[in-house]
Amino acid sequence: MSKRSAVIPGSFDPITYGHLNIIERALEIFDQVHVGVAVNVSKNALFSMDERIALIEEVCGGDPRITVGAFEGLLVNHAAERGATALVRGLRAVSDFEYEFQMAHMNRKLNPEIETVFLMAGEEYFYVSSKLVKEVASLGGDVEGLVPPVVLERLRERLLTGETEA
Ligand code: ADP
Repeated sequence: MSKRSAVIPGSFDPITYGHLNIIERALEIFDQVHVGVAVNVSKNALFSMDERIALIEEVCGGDPRITVGAFEGLLVNHAAERGATALVRGLRAVSDFEYEFQMAHMNRKLNPEIETVFLMAGEEYFYVSSKLVKEVASLGGDVEGLVPPVVLERLRERLLTGETEA
């Protein structure tokens, strides 16, 4: 049987336990998962592309089924180039749905051979987003348990120095 592979796209600024939950569950369905870090994120990213990729690699612990890389341009093209047959997205709230629904249909129009698969957020992480984690951490709130320890450390360092990625 041929290997099935999926791309999990996103900004991952930074990776959270919510992302990891989706990655782990995608690996129950697919043989290989490629975490695609989007280049075209808004300018006020907290971590650079290299930092975001390094953190994902670190927390995914060298699992040979997981690869990580940056992508620019159309996601379906990136997925096709990698031989992936699916895109995996996480759904947290109804508010995620409308945008995801549009994107899934647009991506199907662009490449009907690539299916979008949605995984419901794990109940312990449905309220976790990179954006909220950054906001809370920047206000001195405790985000332990929402992000892996190495991310927690990098967040503390970065927020203490007050830098943002230009
Ligand atoms: P984007 O900016 O494309 O939404 P993110 O890095 O925020 O990128 O998210 C990447 C993917 O991970 C998206 O499909 C998003 O829905 C999913 N995701 C993020 N946080 C969670 C979570 N807590 N539970 C489930 N899925 C999540």
